[in-house]
Amino acid sequence: MIHTSLPPKFGDVDVIIAGGGTAGCILATRLADADPSLVILVVERGRSELASEVFHEGDDGNGYQADLKNDALRWFVSKNQFEGTKKYRTVGCANVLGGGSTVFNLMNGPPSRWDFESWEGSGWQAEDLIYSLQKRTDVASTIREAARMKSIPPMPIESQFMTSAAKRAGWVDAQHPSDIDSMNAIWRDSDQVPDQEQERKSAAAGHLLPRINKMTYPNFHVLVESFVQRVLIDENNKVTGVEVYSPAAQSNDEERSLTVIKARKLVVACSGVLGTPLLLEMSGIGDPSVLDRADIPVVVPLPGVGNGYRECPTLDYAYKTNLSPGQTTDAFTKGIMTKEDLYNNKHGLQDLKLNTVTGKVRPSEDEIEQFGPELRKVWDDHFKMHPGKATTEFQLSPCHPNPIISDGSPCMGITVLSSSPISTGCIHILEPFGENPIVFENGYFTGEGGSLDLKLHVWMYKKQREIFRRMPCYRGERPEMHPPFAADSPAACIETTEPLPEDVEDIAYTAEDDRVLEAYILQRAWGMWASIGTCKMLPTEKNGVVDAELGVHGITGLKIADLSIIPGNLSAYMHNQMALLIGEKAAEIILKKL
Ligand SMILES: Cc1cc2nc3c(=O)[nH]c(=O)nc-3n(C[C@H](O)[C@H](O)[C@H](O)COP(=O)(O)OP(=O)(O)OC[C@H]3O[C@@H](n4cnc5c(N)ncnc54)[C@H](O)[C@@H]3O)c2cc1C
Repeated sequence: MIHTSLPPKFGDVDVIIAGGGTAGCILATRLADADPSLVILVVERGRSELASEVFHEGDDGNGYQADLKNDALRWFVSKNQFEGTKKYRTVGCANVLGGGSTVFNLMNGPPSRWDFESWEGSGWQAEDLIYSLQKRTDVASTIREAARMKSIPPMPIESQFMTSAAKRAGWVDAQHPSDIDSMNAIWRDSDQVPDQEQERKSAAAGHLLPRINKMTYPNFHVLVESFVQRVLIDENNKVTGVEVYSPAAQSNDEERSLTVIKARKLVVACSGVLGTPLLLEMSGIGDPSVLDRADIPVVVPLPGVGNGYRECPTLDYAYKTNLSPGQTTDAFTKGIMTKEDLYNNKHGLQDLKLNTVTGKVRPSEDEIEQFGPELRKVWDDHFKMHPGKATTEFQLSPCHPNPIISDGSPCMGITVLSSSPISTGCIHILEPFGENPIVFENGYFTGEGGSLDLKLHVWMYKKQREIFRRMPCYRGERPEMHPPFAADSPAACIETTEPLPEDVEDIAYTAEDDRVLEAYILQRAWGMWASIGTCKMLPTEKNGVVDAELGVHGITGLKIADLSIIPGNLSAYMHNQMALLIGEKAAEIILKKL
């Protein structure tokens, strides 16, 4: 049953899942399938309807502009730490049944072995995770789709970029779509735009909702538009249930009242990277200084809660091209052509993709030497010993990288992101009741590694620009998507009617150009919807919050299953797949013990 407020005398349940997002829906479904007699309650903050389109036309000068009013998204505002940059930056996360899987951009990237090597828990070693990922049917179908792509001739932009990247940077074609080891390599992406008839299968639509109203699942309940305010913990540090706030259960003149729901067996926090640490802190689990400031009695001191937040600072750059509208996807994204037009007219476009290739790269030792001794040391600490760890990831776009702000003229672009950022941020509560106000810092380019994160973006800007300049279809830069270099600088944007000569020299950036470039990166970096790591699976002495069985340290009856547990890094576009996987693994672990 789906409820917006619980019926009177609802009674106790066996398992409460706090957050009906990507991992939460999978976990709940697997538990219900395995044992229909289990009384399961999923509590979800957002609505149950599938989210309508969350992006709309317009530009904040920063990239895709998501609809701030669409309540399928919840926004967290980060103070930007740098003088002269935009003061606030928002990070959005899902606020709807199905969570991120309901609103995500349908992009599934190739995993990297390195991402899995930072896990320490038994059952969560690299080989376990890779095996589990490849076993999942939807991931396997992505791999099959990518394999199909291998047989489709590349789009003109794709082949020109790959030729130029191979010559200019030595970046090679990844040999297999599920290759998780290659470095300085490029993968061809699968089709991202769903066919009209193709249903978006979120974790809610594809798994939970088909069961929820069936007579065969009488004990499976979902409470939407309600949030878990607090986990209830007894004097033996055992979780007994939760307190829930359901606005639909309140009458206007009534004071805000909370419903207590008891859990006989387990509470699982699946409230996401930005939701789960807040829930723990409201329950007295967290960094004592944070809890003291919010006037919350400390139940279990766990300084790692809410810290170590990691996101991938991302930049988009765009170029002019002589390709026809049908050879890019701009005409489609602006509604000038339909998908059928593109296919039938055979403009050279075999498949409709917003991103055509994904690259995972890092600078050479010689290039690192140019960064100077201070950054060299940070590099040695974080990257030198890990040759499989990419610093930078990119996606090539056969259109304006932010298609919604393109004017429809043929364009090509690139989205560049920190693949393994060193900088981290945090999220914490400030008050004992309610979910606001909170402290949120995205942490971009801050701390010990912030200067290296920034320098790597500078490196990649210069690298990709030289690659584009050597493509036969290059006709200059789109100035609105490049740093505002001085008009007389060698780095100034140009427009050309012919390709540049093959032996064109690299741009010689001046010190002032570097300053403009760095300021631009600090100003424009946006988040990839790819947050992780606020309740890490690590021992307490390493600021960990959960053990390998997903149990919160120092508490019984409370587990976490969402992307907050990621202990190290996660390459872009692995987030949705990884959340599905965590839901599956959580179900396996829990079913063994119930
Ligand atoms: C707009 C958008 C686009 C994205 N695009 C991509 C993409 O193309 N590829 C990709 O791999 N990843 C993408 N992601 C990221 C990916 O979808 C998420 O990282 C992933 O789904 C997170 O799963 P999760 O289970 O950890 O958390 P979520 O799916 O976020 O689930 C957490 C749920 O908990 C609920 N909640 C929070 N607090 C409470 C509370 N106190 N009580 C009750 N409920 C609560 C939230 O409403 C939410 O539904 C995108 C994300 C967004 C938001």
